[in-house]
Amino acid sequence: MATTSFTKKTLGVEATDTTSSKQKDTAQHSFPKKPKIASSKMKRREIPEGLWTKCPKCSLMLYDKELDENLKVCRQCSHHFPISARERIHSLVETCSFQEMDADMTSVDVLKFTGVASYTSRLEFYQKSTNLKDAVITGIGKINSIRVALGVMDFHFLGGSMGSVVGEKLTRLIEAGTDKGLPIIIVSSSGGARMYEGMLSLMQMAKTCAALAYHAKGKLPFISVLTNPTTAGVMASFATVGDLILAEPEAMIGFAGPRVIKDTTQSELPPGFQTAEFLLERGLIDAIVLRKEMKAKLSDYLDFLTHGRKAESN
Ligand SMILES: [Zn+2]
Repeated sequence: MATTSFTKKTLGVEATDTTSSKQKDTAQHSFPKKPKIASSKMKRREIPEGLWTKCPKCSLMLYDKELDENLKVCRQCSHHFPISARERIHSLVETCSFQEMDADMTSVDVLKFTGVASYTSRLEFYQKSTNLKDAVITGIGKINSIRVALGVMDFHFLGGSMGSVVGEKLTRLIEAGTDKGLPIIIVSSSGGARMYEGMLSLMQMAKTCAALAYHAKGKLPFISVLTNPTTAGVMASFATVGDLILAEPEAMIGFAGPRVIKDTTQSELPPGFQTAEFLLERGLIDAIVLRKEMKAKLSDYLDFLTHGRKAESN
């Protein structure tokens, strides 16, 4: 599970001057630089609370509104912050073209699972905090003029884990794509299978891949987009069987986590291990695409991949 990258800083530091005039005089003689500290405190007080996010990569303070407008990408170092499924869909499809499928499908605690907290209480918590029913949104929309079946995972909901609902929604999306002759795009962001559902969640790996095999038989393209992080059961199933596999810069992509691999193999891992860049160099993914360029690139790829089909139908 990745940690939340949104660090909000309270910067409303009160600058109170408690130094008496006598102390000031002595301070000026022995510490001539003291007034500088006071002026920096004054500067800090001007920053309002809760409107800024610190970039974890370059430490630049980013104005939240500006960060949202920039699709949650740091303007200085291009660090890609996590983005919600709805925001991502909004950034990819034409306005009002997206028709959501199975919007009300919700998970059931079939195993009556209780760990640190019960599965039911976890579901309730994330449904409230994310305003989502589960970790994926699926539907049919248009990217420029091309209709696509689009599924977008949301890491904010239980680490984007794939349980029965995520698997079922994706499978229905893929089947709808096959029936309607549409290309499929799935944007993944997941910690893997949902352990609260045990074997039922593992079954989703086979189910989604089987549906994709039928989709491929219809000579329809599937573009898989990997975002930070895409790991474990999702990485080991539908996310890596794309005709084209794209990734966002510096996304962590892998099956087991680096610490597990290091402990198991008892060897040092190479620098940049399990990043999108590392995988691209070794031919495991096809391209790294900036979030801001994703829509344009997808549109180009779709145009190319569906060209033959269009020519056939004309
Ligand atoms: Zn940055």
